[in-house]
Amino acid sequence: MEDKSFALYCSVQSQLDEVCDALKLDAGTKAYIRQPQKELTVSVPVKMDDGTTRVFTGFRIQHNNACGPYKGGIRFHPEETVNTVRCLATWMTLKCSVAGLPLGGGKGGIVCNPKEMSVGELERLSRSYIRQIWPLVGPDQDIPAPDVYTNPQIIAWMMDEYSAIKGYGNPGMITGKPIPVGGSAGRGDATSRGGVYTIIEAARHLKIDLKGAKVAIQGYGNAGSFAAILLSEEAGCTIVAVSDSKGGICNQNGLNAREVVAYKKKTGSVAGFPGSQPLSNAELLELGVDILLPAALEGVITMENASNIKATIIGELANGPTSAEANEALHQRGVLVIPDILCNAGGVSVSYFEWVQGLYHFWWNEAEVRTKLAEVMTNAFRSVLEMSLKHQVSLRKAAYMVAVSRVAEAMKLRGWV
Ligand code: GLU
Repeated sequence: MEDKSFALYCSVQSQLDEVCDALKLDAGTKAYIRQPQKELTVSVPVKMDDGTTRVFTGFRIQHNNACGPYKGGIRFHPEETVNTVRCLATWMTLKCSVAGLPLGGGKGGIVCNPKEMSVGELERLSRSYIRQIWPLVGPDQDIPAPDVYTNPQIIAWMMDEYSAIKGYGNPGMITGKPIPVGGSAGRGDATSRGGVYTIIEAARHLKIDLKGAKVAIQGYGNAGSFAAILLSEEAGCTIVAVSDSKGGICNQNGLNAREVVAYKKKTGSVAGFPGSQPLSNAELLELGVDILLPAALEGVITMENASNIKATIIGELANGPTSAEANEALHQRGVLVIPDILCNAGGVSVSYFEWVQGLYHFWWNEAEVRTKLAEVMTNAFRSVLEMSLKHQVSLRKAAYMVAVSRVAEAMKLRGWV
């Protein structure tokens, strides 16, 4: 796993190098933007329910703050590595830049398996992690948020621990909070809603009718399940297949997204949903659909399966699901891949709104949040599409070009390079 994540990090760095060269940026900018500014590794002791103490490894990596404070989620995952967190931190810098947010990029992670931990253990883990990283985070410094296997409850504990250390309430130090403790309306489905706005724009560009379009979704957590609901209920798509870490399900006549959510809540997985046929995660990616949404983990679309993918649009709700080589191969075949730093930027955009509301102690309603989110996502999509058409490159390369040029300009204006 370590090697795989190191290879991923090297690939992210070479993609950045390529983009810096294409933009004719100077050597100093290229050298600075390809690596994180700060990295912290911490040991996180936790008293377990059986009375023993376990020490987990955690990270907080701050990639670049030229455009504003570092921003990015915290993942709890058994296969987390420092290199994965480096990639994710880099993507946050690029994501905030593509979305035009006054924020930089960072990411955190703890190597743990939350599925095997009790609620009490998870609370102690969350609080202990904050006790290790608190000097580096804060509303003007670095603002964490949820990511894979972290949720609003975990964020509430982290905010509470930080506030206890500082001695006063701190809603602006973290986003993705539950609404009663300073969360924003519309944060829950923001990643998916933002992704759906980019899919609508992509379909308009390709002149595809979304009504009746077939969709397959890998991953049925927050991003995947809300995407299924929004695409079926608001865009008229047919969800033919979904999956999670335990397996997948398929029904060519369409799955009811909300019923699948309820079934997963009850049984712990989408697998075995009544009236569906089973299929594997690998099979799901290669189904004959119009839209494919990888909404789980990184590294699932590679040169091994890229040529078997039949979708016309791939919307990357997950971070890093497609390798650089597979992205180019898909682009050559005419598949429109909406890259992660654009497709899933809705989450951090509403996090930005939540941060602003927290700083002002002034709250917006859901309709206001949605209007602002639609504006951010539509503008971001259009500037990336324009760049891609102008330079005849994939949307991913174009998104990197838009993002890196903005960050590079900020670095230059600040006098860093
Ligand atoms: N974890 C999400 C992402 O990768 C959201 C980050 C945030 O809200 O700061 O974009």
